[in-house]
Amino acid sequence: MLNRRWTITELGPAQMVHRLLRFDFTGCTGFLCEGYYWLNISSGGDGLQEYAVVREIDGALIESITVSWTSHNSLLVIVADMFANGQRLEAIGDWRLQPWHLDHGVNWEGNRCALCA
Ligand SMILES: [Zn+2]
Repeated sequence: MLNRRWTITELGPAQMVHRLLRFDFTGCTGFLCEGYYWLNISSGGDGLQEYAVVREIDGALIESITVSWTSHNSLLVIVADMFANGQRLEAIGDWRLQPWHLDHGVNWEGNRCALCA
């Protein structure tokens, strides 16, 4: 699940929360928001949108959030809480984001992964 390649879009908190709640993204979609990656780790089977929150500075996984279960306001609070406390949170496991994880390529025909084909 965490051995995907993600296409990253950089957004501010309000825009990211809006998009996370409004759209179901492919499993290779990620966002970078003020020092934290939000990487889609949805399994696809149940239709729930789940994101891993990864610190940009050290690539540590610090949280996973099922955004389908959150309201707009509570997701804004979660995002703000990441900014306030994310640097202090302990990493979950020893997985670390590697450069190749962010090397998805452009989503034109013939350059798609299994998740956006
Ligand atoms: Zn893809």
